[in-house]
Amino acid sequence: MSIGYRDRALYCEAVALADIAADAGTPCYVYSAAIIRENFRAYDQALAAVPHTVCFSVKANGNLGVLRLLAQMGAGFDIVSGGELYRVVKAGGDPAKVVFSGVGKTAAEIEEALGAGIFVFNCESEPELALIDALAHRLGVKARVAVRVNPDVDARTHAYISTGRLAHKFGVDLGEAEAVYEHARAHKNLSVEGVSCHIGSQLVDTAPVMEAVDRVLELIDRLRARGFDIRHADLGGGLGVSYKPEQSVPAISEFAACIASRLAGRDLHLLIEPGRSIVANAGVLLTRVLYRKKTGEKDFVIVDAAMNDLIRPALYSAHHEIVPVRDTGAPASRVDVVGPVCETGDFLARDREMAGVFPGDLVAIRSAGAYGFVQSSNYNARPRAAEVLVDGAAWRIVRRRESYDDLVRSES
Ligand SMILES: *Cc1c(COP(=O)(O)O)cnc(C)c1O
Repeated sequence: MSIGYRDRALYCEAVALADIAADAGTPCYVYSAAIIRENFRAYDQALAAVPHTVCFSVKANGNLGVLRLLAQMGAGFDIVSGGELYRVVKAGGDPAKVVFSGVGKTAAEIEEALGAGIFVFNCESEPELALIDALAHRLGVKARVAVRVNPDVDARTHAYISTGRLAHKFGVDLGEAEAVYEHARAHKNLSVEGVSCHIGSQLVDTAPVMEAVDRVLELIDRLRARGFDIRHADLGGGLGVSYKPEQSVPAISEFAACIASRLAGRDLHLLIEPGRSIVANAGVLLTRVLYRKKTGEKDFVIVDAAMNDLIRPALYSAHHEIVPVRDTGAPASRVDVVGPVCETGDFLARDREMAGVFPGDLVAIRSAGAYGFVQSSNYNARPRAAEVLVDGAAWRIVRRRESYDDLVRSES
């Protein structure tokens, strides 16, 4: 384990988290390069039997240091905005391995992606196909497209991160897919090359994914019978991680091998778009205890990180383990861990049995590497946290803490 205790002190790889906090301050996100590499490799190796590209989902963690690490390992990237494309290019990512997803791509974003020469647009509607065609025509290029289909399977995850039912805004209904592909074929500046799907996030069960894979493969057979030269299948991301020690989720290698076995012998290039499963457990949010406070009913631990730094508990009722950076053996008690933001929803844990901590102590909020910093805001005029990347015994600040100047820089 690359994040764990040594002599009662919490380490990320060979670096004591207390040393990072002393230098970089708190709150501060810390990521382990070794864990990110290990997770990426687990996908890459389990898919070795089929031609494939692992496209890291930038929205899970868009830090340039993290993207560069993945780019150096040969990762592709799944983007959902022009800003994410900009980040990928800045980090040295290869645009030819970029897939562009999302229901609301703007004309400007599409032009940027065409200009960069991305691998494929995952399209979600007929008007989007028409716009991409028109812009490609104007630029004198052909745009490679796939249609994102909605396989109508229940991903059995949190309602806000489930995407594969007919009631969701994502994708084209499977029943209408062939009509949409015919529509796409009529556009001269589109090259229709793939099928894509993504059914949701934090999936802890492989069955719905395999069901979606089977439906996508059946569609590919029907499209090929109609003369479409379908060369790739993009099966999205979504593999869950364990946020609690007792929570069991499929291993990356098992999940990926299962997908690879379905694609064997089908003459398809496989794309997958994992985000959370690569970075979530590679990261912690380091924070310092400011106060303890008791009310009639509750015992509060007030820390210097808040919902603006990590919104997952407030937004999805997500559970994050919170552990002391120095394990003093102080008796555990049941507490609410809350931040300074003026909202009752500003909590990081509720009714949590937790080791005793006191003002000045550091605690680490675990599994914070995905959908953590990227969803942070300046609410309550709080400068956003620093981000640190650890690699063995070395570490560096890959995003400095924002200053008050940063808060007002674009205002007048
Ligand atoms: C969010 C998203 C992903 C990544 O999902 P994870 O659960 O982080 O693996 C992949 N593809 C698309 C289209 C997404 O929207």
